[in-house]
Amino acid sequence: MIRIGCHLSPSKGLFRMGQDALSIRANTFQFFLRNPRGSKAKELDLNDAAALMNLLRERDMLPIVAHAPYTLNPCAADQRVREFAAMVMEDDLKRMEAFPGNFYNFHPGSHVGQGPEAGIERTSSLLNALLWPDMGTTVLIETMAGQGSEIGATFEQVRDILRQVELGERMGVCLDTCHVFAAGYDVVNNLEGVLERFDRIIGFGRLKALHVNDSLFPLGSHKDRHAPIGQGCIGLDAFLRLVDHPALRALPMILETPQEDLSGYAREIALLREEAVDNL
Ligand code: FE
Ligand code: FE
Ligand code: ZN
Repeated sequence: MIRIGCHLSPSKGLFRMGQDALSIRANTFQFFLRNPRGSKAKELDLNDAAALMNLLRERDMLPIVAHAPYTLNPCAADQRVREFAAMVMEDDLKRMEAFPGNFYNFHPGSHVGQGPEAGIERTSSLLNALLWPDMGTTVLIETMAGQGSEIGATFEQVRDILRQVELGERMGVCLDTCHVFAAGYDVVNNLEGVLERFDRIIGFGRLKALHVNDSLFPLGSHKDRHAPIGQGCIGLDAFLRLVDHPALRALPMILETPQEDLSGYAREIALLREEAVDNL
């Protein structure tokens, strides 16, 4: 069975979030460690974190993915903006030690006129300042759509960030289907070719997780707008091939599609597992 879940909110507590995941038959999920806009986080409840980890171990729901606040810009030209990203990510990575063996996914940032090389270098040096050798977390660079001046929209740029990180063994990649499609990688008509390029440029060993999102905009649009599975330009058939691909099917897959409530995700999870949806 594929390992699939969705983005969930820990607003009612961490253990409750695990129960939410179970209720929609998810066997992984993603969450924010703090307000997604990156402001102050309340103190982590270590008992609640331990209870969640026990539940996830018992019910075979590991690994899970934490997502950094999406408003951070680790490669900003403005030093204060970079320092804020560093401060938030440092605190997040400390929190992640309560969830050892899991993933912390982040957006590599926007270079805003500095040029991609400068951006890549800034993001790598921020990672070099944050990672430590015996940390329990693997940090994932998310592949981006290339909206505005986002870096990480080509496999080469992702590779270049990874190359400059000293503790490379603490790093991996999360492939977002909407983002790579918008960036120009045709996962609909040429999935094999895209995966072959990923392997050649970055290496399959680096691929640790997937964000499974349909795209509102077409191939190469560089627009980051997610659509429900089967309701965008990627389409259900492409997703059914993708989630069952031998190189991908063991990876944790996270839905970040626009849904009204948990039942929408329950339906998408069942849809991608090709299970009956009528009892949900
Ligand atoms: Fe993301
Ligand atoms: Fe994503
Ligand atoms: Zn996105």
